Amino acid sequence: MNQLNGKKPIIGVTANLMAMPGRFSMEQERACLNQEYILSILKAQAVPILLPILADQESIHRQVELVDALVLSGGYDVSPLLYGEEPDPKLEAIYPQRDEYEIQIIKIAYQMGKPILGICRGLQILNVVFGGSLYQDLSYYQSKNSIQHIQQTHMANGSHTIDLIPQTKLHQIFKTESLIANSSHHQAVKELAPGFIVSARSKDGLIEGIEKKESSFVIGVQWHPETMVEQSPEMLKLFEALTAKAREL
Ligand code: MN
Repeated sequence: MNQLNGKKPIIGVTANLMAMPGRFSMEQERACLNQEYILSILKAQAVPILLPILADQESIHRQVELVDALVLSGGYDVSPLLYGEEPDPKLEAIYPQRDEYEIQIIKIAYQMGKPILGICRGLQILNVVFGGSLYQDLSYYQSKNSIQHIQQTHMANGSHTIDLIPQTKLHQIFKTESLIANSSHHQAVKELAPGFIVSARSKDGLIEGIEKKESSFVIGVQWHPETMVEQSPEMLKLFEALTAKAREL
């Protein structure tokens, strides 16, 4: 047991900044996060806190010092300029300030050896920060057996199969060869970042899970386990593994 002395670890989750309707029809920017992240972390016996987008490096450093682990939440597309491409017409909304913030927080958290779990966009930004690239739209992914990755059902439901690759951390966490996951992404990993391995794929061969080789816990998943936890309790294993690692370090 580390300095937590049995206390619950604190898991910081990066928030979105979104313009939403405010009073008098004025648009208001709000730092926000889908509630499912919070409920999943609570269910995994950790304490969630929201990490708003900041620009100042010293303040980001303090954010990381406060948390025992980091979750990178879903959201906008990552700017393709960050992986050496111009924006394709099929690129959707980007938010460069969030990209800049998450690049910094990932680097700092990694240096400090904090466990990192990237979810959906979180996997994508992890891959980009460490030198990989993305398909700006899945229509550019050539596969003989293409499947649907923007599911037409509630995100509490799974929609496609994920094959977990043996001898990966993800496989150790779920202790199964395959699972049914949800899917709501129009982008995915193109070139894998150096130092990473693929830990999960869908049946069309698309990368659905990645992890950094020489790290205690730097894992990305392309699906949204947090919205499935209620209906598919095995999805909680990912958050429990993060809690366990946060306790250990
Ligand atoms: Mn998918």
